Amino acid sequence: TGNGNLQDINHKNISVELSKNPKTPLPYKDLVFGRSFTDHMLNIEWDSKIGWSNPIIKPYGPLSLDPSSVVLHYSFECFEGMKAYKDKQGKIRLFRPDMNMKRLVKSANRIALPTFNSEELGECIKELIRVDKHWIPQERGYSLYIRPTFIGTQAFLGVGPTSKALLYVICSPVGPYYKTGFSAVKLLATTENVRAWPGGTGDAKLGGNYAPCVKPQIEAAAKGYQQNLWLFGKHDEITEVGTMNCFVYLKNEHGENELVTPPLDGSILAGVTRDSILSLARSWNEYQVSERKITMLEIIQASEEGRLLEMFGSGTACIVSPIKEIRYRNLDIKVPLDPKNPSSNAGPVARKFADFLMGIQYGEIPHEWSVIV
Ligand code: PMP
Repeated sequence: TGNGNLQDINHKNISVELSKNPKTPLPYKDLVFGRSFTDHMLNIEWDSKIGWSNPIIKPYGPLSLDPSSVVLHYSFECFEGMKAYKDKQGKIRLFRPDMNMKRLVKSANRIALPTFNSEELGECIKELIRVDKHWIPQERGYSLYIRPTFIGTQAFLGVGPTSKALLYVICSPVGPYYKTGFSAVKLLATTENVRAWPGGTGDAKLGGNYAPCVKPQIEAAAKGYQQNLWLFGKHDEITEVGTMNCFVYLKNEHGENELVTPPLDGSILAGVTRDSILSLARSWNEYQVSERKITMLEIIQASEEGRLLEMFGSGTACIVSPIKEIRYRNLDIKVPLDPKNPSSNAGPVARKFADFLMGIQYGEIPHEWSVIV
């Protein structure tokens, strides 16, 4: 953990101050992503001279920050996104939380925020979830979205490492991404702007990666496209779709069925869903599974030769998001959904991942990835 003699995060030192004005959770049907929050939050402060302070669970409420705090000027911010699910027996489950905790350490390290023992943070988050467990909707597809956030708080306008930081965690009950079955998206392949590049920060979950993608997203929406397809390089390699990883299922030039996702070359976020899909696909052994570069030219050729079979995005929010069309320069590329069932909104490959992962998340398929809180 690299903190020398300074104190690290320790969940055994946690203290809990309960809210005196607990709210009533909204009826689950009224939930809108990221709008309402539970009664409590977890705060852990860091100071370069002391290390990590004792974790505190306290009533949810505003932060008090000096206007010169480094987070407000130079974007010392990174975050995570994960979910807690309530299974049919009422048990609370997290999905591969160790991966989110390790990714937060990696993101923090990229912007010179202090690192910490990721398992200890995981234990603190479990404690927060237990305190607010009545906020987790039990209906299938519903969950508690958990947002660990880490900011530099030193009051100082110099550009340099921060001597103070705050790691806090808030929770928001959320409904299913698809309320009425899958809905496939149309993408605008973005050629004017680039999300990330080798040597940049695309593989860290930094707030600073997201704001610059909103203008291209508005432009895509104005043209009728729900997401940007982010490309990189002179060959227009596919990188990510919106805030998701990207998968292409095709018959390759050798006539083999292949599931392709771009490699983790530093410009792509190492999605927990991406890793889970790759691991399931490899264990099923039904087709070739590749982490390799894939260009728009390869997509166009596969499409023209009838070899493009499915495309989808992957992420915690939706698990999979089927893609039905891509606008690329002056071309409209139709992406098949389900050749056997023209009225279907998702292909069989995407659907199988969605069903299987959801089964694990809600404890219906026993799996070591599902961690009971
Ligand atoms: N790429 C980006 C840019 C993202 O923000 C996310 C969401 N965290 C993902 C991919 C998907 O990652 P995960 O499967 O861990 O949610």
